[in-house]
Amino acid sequence: MRLKIVQMGEPVLREQARALTAEDIRSAEVRQLIECMRETMYDAPGVGLAAPQVGQSLQIAVIEDKPEYTRNMSSDALTLRGREPVPFQVIINPRLTLHAREPVVFYEGCLSLPGFSALVPRAHQVTVQCLNQDGEPRVIEAKGWYARILQHEVDHLNGTVYIDRMDTRTFSTSENLNRHHGGAPGHPGQGR
Ligand code: ZN
Repeated sequence: MRLKIVQMGEPVLREQARALTAEDIRSAEVRQLIECMRETMYDAPGVGLAAPQVGQSLQIAVIEDKPEYTRNMSSDALTLRGREPVPFQVIINPRLTLHAREPVVFYEGCLSLPGFSALVPRAHQVTVQCLNQDGEPRVIEAKGWYARILQHEVDHLNGTVYIDRMDTRTFSTSENLNRHHGGAPGHPGQGR
């Protein structure tokens, strides 16, 4: 079942989401929620979706970056972003570690604020310690666009949205971004 994606101004987007217990993760409700989040992400489409975005203040995010999403991007643009396909995965109770290096800056958008983008600096490389949908511990080492998606989604679980981190003077409608910066470095692709 596809869920409604809540929009900016909905208080749940600004709350610290609750960590799940092992029992929560095994529950039918959480399994069902994850399936619905997956379907909602595909339908949007987006490369990530956090539970607060469907009105649930829980530390769950789903991520998948499909090859078809970047079909229209040049290989140069993909290389610049370090963007490669990411298989479907569920991230529960994440702990994010940023690796020090000069931040990388690209346009980013969000399904809870559709139709807009802005330049957002993000760490190039991160480590995420979390649980998967079966409650098993995982350590994810990510670089490039995958690292950006993880930072964006973990932010959602802490009540933070990209507009808190953006270069405010670059905030733009997607239409104007395409018109004025189409094809230029920093063009958004589908950061969500
Ligand atoms: Zn978002």
